[in-house]
Amino acid sequence: MRVDRICVVTGANRGIGLEVVRQLAAAGDTVVLTARDEDKAAKAAAGIGGDVLARRLDVADERSAAELARELEESHGRVDVLVNNAAIHYDTWQRAGDADLGVVSEALETNLLGAWRVTLALLPLLRRGAHGRIVNVSSELGSLASMEGGTPAYAVSKTALNALTRMLAAELRGDGILVNAVCPGWVATDMGGPGGRPVAEGARSVLWAADLPDSGPTGGFFRDGQPLPW
Ligand code: NDP
Repeated sequence: MRVDRICVVTGANRGIGLEVVRQLAAAGDTVVLTARDEDKAAKAAAGIGGDVLARRLDVADERSAAELARELEESHGRVDVLVNNAAIHYDTWQRAGDADLGVVSEALETNLLGAWRVTLALLPLLRRGAHGRIVNVSSELGSLASMEGGTPAYAVSKTALNALTRMLAAELRGDGILVNAVCPGWVATDMGGPGGRPVAEGARSVLWAADLPDSGPTGGFFRDGQPLPW
């Protein structure tokens, strides 16, 4: 029987994050839809049925992450699933050899440190949750097998997110928390642009990792439930 879980999704006011919230809520979970803009979070949550709570969370802001953790501590006392989805700068279209390090720094701040920061803030609550799951939404562009130029800031941030995934997975194995990185594939969102797979299909890879049984893998990198090369 499915347990009612408390799930937190970052960057969930649009795109894949919003679809993940929609599907988790439809399956009966309590979902905390977070966005860096409070109004955007409320507006997005209003369009979804089920048990969806809108909260502000700027993953680049330490205080914002701490505030969310404090609120969830008071309201629920635990978190079962964290989906680190928020990301920026897919569209840098530079080469590593002439990159703008300001852009690289921004990408790392949100895509790597944002996920790391939110994980640290929510870890005490995740440790108290049932069947803890952390899903880091990564990209095949972060695979060391595909470092062939274009979006170097984004690619490096996702490679580092993959490394973080492996470290956290090893450390949290004893707590029964499964930590995996997933690539949703090329998805037709504001980031992906037109032509990609429908957002519901992209969200499925994320939900697969969120819904893993206790015997499921940890420290892996997957798309559509299949392993990807690091
Ligand atoms: P979108 O650009 O459509 O959405 C990105 C979301 O991240 C927005 O809600 C945005 O909020 C939010 N965000 C950005 N910065 C912050 C921040 N500091 N704090 C909180 N939220 C923030 O992207 P997608 O839905 O396409 O991508 C979702 C994930 O999937 C990302 O991790 C991306 O790298 C990954 N991915 C996507 C692919 C694709 O083809 N679309 C391919 C491979 C991976 P706001 O509205 O305020 O800007």
